[in-house]
Amino acid sequence: MAKEFILTLEGVNKTFDGFQAISDLNFYMDAGELRTIIGPNGAGKSTMLDLITGRTRPDSGTIEFGKATDLTRLNEYQINRLGIGRKFQTPSVYTDHTVFENILLSLPDTRSVLGTLFSRVTPRQRERIHGILTLIGLEEKAESKAGALAHGQKQWLEIGMLLAQNAKLLLVDEPAAGMTDEETERTGELLLSLAGRHSLIVIEHDMAFVRQIASKVTVLHQGSILCEGTVEEVQNNEKVVEVYLGRKHEPKRHL
Ligand code: ADP
Ligand code: MG
Repeated sequence: MAKEFILTLEGVNKTFDGFQAISDLNFYMDAGELRTIIGPNGAGKSTMLDLITGRTRPDSGTIEFGKATDLTRLNEYQINRLGIGRKFQTPSVYTDHTVFENILLSLPDTRSVLGTLFSRVTPRQRERIHGILTLIGLEEKAESKAGALAHGQKQWLEIGMLLAQNAKLLLVDEPAAGMTDEETERTGELLLSLAGRHSLIVIEHDMAFVRQIASKVTVLHQGSILCEGTVEEVQNNEKVVEVYLGRKHEPKRHL
């Protein structure tokens, strides 16, 4: 059964100093799916990504990627090589290099930074890089220093870097944070355009953004799944309303 899913978490638990951050978590995702995960602060969303990428080891449970590869036996590097790429909230691009070079340096067959920059870029690499730049809307910025990009553009570049690494599953943590409304909308379009060929998990709490991108939403609460469904279904779910309304400080825009 589990083999039909690109990602399967079963019975996953993780405790930090006695605090149960992830609690008997079961999660299933189809290949090509764009899944949005929401949930209050501290629900365990980032920890879930840490467990998938091998940054954190579960106390118990299984995590399978594709054809029954048990990720819990692999280290972060091995998991990344299997095709799982993660984008953190703060972009980590090479600020002193151009946008083009940032993508070049992320291609899987590149050697050291210096070796790569001083060797000749093959026509195939060039074509691939320009394909990615077009997809992320940064074709015109190819020769700009990454450090000079606007916040949103840096985030798109980082998504492009994951694509250059051949990530099959992209894990994106709060991409809309700090973005303008226009950047947020373009980010939504980009993520939507990647779904199908890639599988994506997007953690987000800006509900306008969630509505733009979401087909299926998973609500995480106290380390397990509270409910799953369409945006409308989860927004009307009593348990979800309770969890969010119990929290006075959620900004108005967030559910
Ligand atoms: P979310 O991303 O949903 O806001 P997190 O996954 O970051 O939540 O955190 C879930 C809980 O686990 C929080 O209470 C957090 O303090 C705790 N936690 C996460 N990572 C660690 C860690 N490395 N060490 C100790 N506690 C952690
Ligand atoms: Mg988080």
